[in-house]
Amino acid sequence: MLPHTPFLEKAQTVLQTSFHEGRAYVYYVDLAQLKGVNRLNGMERDGALHLTAAEYISRIPEAAACERIFSDQFAILAITRETRSKGEMARAYDEHAEAFLSKQGRILSRGHMQIHCGIAPVERKESLADALDNAYTACRHAGNHGTNHGAMVKKDMAGEMDDLERFIFYLQPKVNVESGEIIGSEALTRLIREGTVIPPEAFIPIMEKNGSILELDQMMLRKVCAHMAQRLLGGLPVVRTSVNLSRLHIREDEAKRLHDIVREYGIPPHLLEFELTESIPLNEFAGAAKFCDQLRGYGYTVSIDDYGAGYTGMNILQELNFDVLKLDKRFLSDREPLKSRNRIILPDMLRILRKLHIDALCEGVETAEQCRYLAGIGCSKAQGYYFSPPVPPEEFYDMYETIHGRYEMMPKGPAVG
Ligand code: C2E
Ligand code: CA
Ligand code: CA
Repeated sequence: MLPHTPFLEKAQTVLQTSFHEGRAYVYYVDLAQLKGVNRLNGMERDGALHLTAAEYISRIPEAAACERIFSDQFAILAITRETRSKGEMARAYDEHAEAFLSKQGRILSRGHMQIHCGIAPVERKESLADALDNAYTACRHAGNHGTNHGAMVKKDMAGEMDDLERFIFYLQPKVNVESGEIIGSEALTRLIREGTVIPPEAFIPIMEKNGSILELDQMMLRKVCAHMAQRLLGGLPVVRTSVNLSRLHIREDEAKRLHDIVREYGIPPHLLEFELTESIPLNEFAGAAKFCDQLRGYGYTVSIDDYGAGYTGMNILQELNFDVLKLDKRFLSDREPLKSRNRIILPDMLRILRKLHIDALCEGVETAEQCRYLAGIGCSKAQGYYFSPPVPPEEFYDMYETIHGRYEMMPKGPAVG
């Protein structure tokens, strides 16, 4: 439920008193990162913030009523004398947004600001609340799809967008098992439905099947970038974060698209990593090789996920250029004969990887013994519940700051397990 009553009351009064001809529209505007940009430029005092927002809002073409909904989000009622179409309204708005952004760029030396806006017509005086809802949905759509301003969606997209809105990401640390240092994090998607956190296994397989995983992965990349940009703007520490990619991205030749998204948020590529599942069918190897090369060419770290969980074997090492091989938790299994054989395979595997200049990271580390074992055989990177489960990003960085980016490691012991 939006805290929108003041806007509805004010706009309703304007409609009753001064709307006799022409058309009425509702704009929902999100001045994303305005606070961060202000802070970065030493303008964090609320007065400065309000001034900038007020300047922007008051000059929206044909604005007749305006209210802050919350934070940097505003609703505006616009009334046009002539019957201007939604497209014309969007174009007029676009010009305004462009002019504002370029002026901001001249005044503020640092930071990257975005404006998301949704526009919806008021069909009848009584349907103001519907128009606000539709404008809000369109605004969220603009945010998720990287349109800076003027984006609109049809009414029937509202339901779909509502669902997408509830995806969030958790972060899980990647740790150097020798020093305890947090060397990165992995973003893992969660679905929030009616207050319950739903794990990815409940929705990723379906999304893989119907292809919507492409959109989900892009949205997660956006969310990770937006979160990082916010922290960077505030001068707060960030660690390199990996985003999971379905193998459908390979088929769709998406490297450039992903790079464009990152650039939009101004995040340096060395702060991002892409994790590609190892289950790549043989006939997709050529595409995968090109995809990895492109991403690495842009400056991203590329890792191959879940190695040892599927059947791909050595082909990955023979044919793809990448930076990190993520060893599946099967390598730490206590089950025989897996356990004894892994003890033989793993050390030689690590030797091969070192010669190929590929880093190894072992997943699913749950005990101190496993940690010591990995350190003993020279697998210095790990991830798992022993350090932390995936947690909300705020919690991750609270923990990161509390321990100054480094876990206390137990003294080195014999390689047991
Ligand atoms: P994954 O990429 O292999 O992620 C690691 C999974 O192992 C995560 O499950 C994590 O919570 C879990 N895990 C971490 N440490 C431990 C441990 O010590 N022990 C055990 N038993 N498990 C541990 P999660 O978060 O449920 O994710 C499951 C899978 O869903 C991921 O596996 C990944 O393949 C997929 N996934 C998650 N988010 C996304 C996404 O945004 N896009 C795509 N394409 N796939 C995603
Ligand atoms: Ca992964
Ligand atoms: Ca994995």
